[in-house]
Amino acid sequence: MSETPTFMLPSGFLGLEPQRGLPAGAKVGIAGIPLDIGTTNRSGARFGPQAIRQASRMLVDGDHPRGWIDPAKLPIADIGNFRIALGDIPASLDAIERQAAAIPHLIALGGEHGVTLPLLRALRKRIGEPIALVHFDAHVDTWPDNFGQRYAHGSVFYHAIEERLIDPRRTVQIGIRSPVQREVHDWTTGQGVLILDAEMVHENGPKAAAERIRDAVGDAPAYLSFDIDALDPAFAPGTGTPEIGGLASWQAQGILRRLGGLRFVGMDVVEVAPPYDVAEITALAAATVAWEYLALIAPGL
Ligand code: MN
Ligand code: MN
Repeated sequence: MSETPTFMLPSGFLGLEPQRGLPAGAKVGIAGIPLDIGTTNRSGARFGPQAIRQASRMLVDGDHPRGWIDPAKLPIADIGNFRIALGDIPASLDAIERQAAAIPHLIALGGEHGVTLPLLRALRKRIGEPIALVHFDAHVDTWPDNFGQRYAHGSVFYHAIEERLIDPRRTVQIGIRSPVQREVHDWTTGQGVLILDAEMVHENGPKAAAERIRDAVGDAPAYLSFDIDALDPAFAPGTGTPEIGGLASWQAQGILRRLGGLRFVGMDVVEVAPPYDVAEITALAAATVAWEYLALIAPGL
């Protein structure tokens, strides 16, 4: 256990000292991306990165109880926040892509879900083939546009499929339950995307859901994108587009813990809007998702 109480640690993720750029020896960079102007309902996710960092300090007083490693002691660094172009979505996406391209393995703390598109563009260039996607969300995020805005937080995976960034036949969406136009839903499944809706998880449990994910992703390089609104508002009230009937945090954790061995190449956790949060419940859930991801990739670091 650290000799410093959790609340006195430095301000970076997991109490790390914030760095400017990835230091030598670090294999994973953790960056905040405080963009939220592509949200369609409540804004506020620009404050997500700092809230997630703050809440994450709850997780550094011991080892992860699966595998007995302390994610904070892995070769990782909190490299601060990416720069964005204030008020300009396309310029922000370009800036995010440029900054992501410099980081070999990135954990991004959002920010709204729109940040995932440039992260996938950067990864696709590095990897050279479409990437498998494990996508937790209440929403499919495959609308061609949002209220006429081409790039916003609900069109991310429409563009990711259209640009061949991800392989839709190796894409799984978990926790889906929002109102959606039937043609958007059918376009998504028609591309080959596997939707494990929230009810499927409730009725069959995390183990069955994890098995379906593992079967769909196989040995392809895989990206984890976790929209915190996949969780029920009871477990994650601090978000912009809440939908009832969602996953309990233990269900999401139970699924994540069963994804060891997948070839993860990056992740994000997005849509934490602290102005709507209560007692850091949403920020802690998001911090824990990133911490679980670190435990998953630890054997390869
Ligand atoms: Mn969502
Ligand atoms: Mn989303």
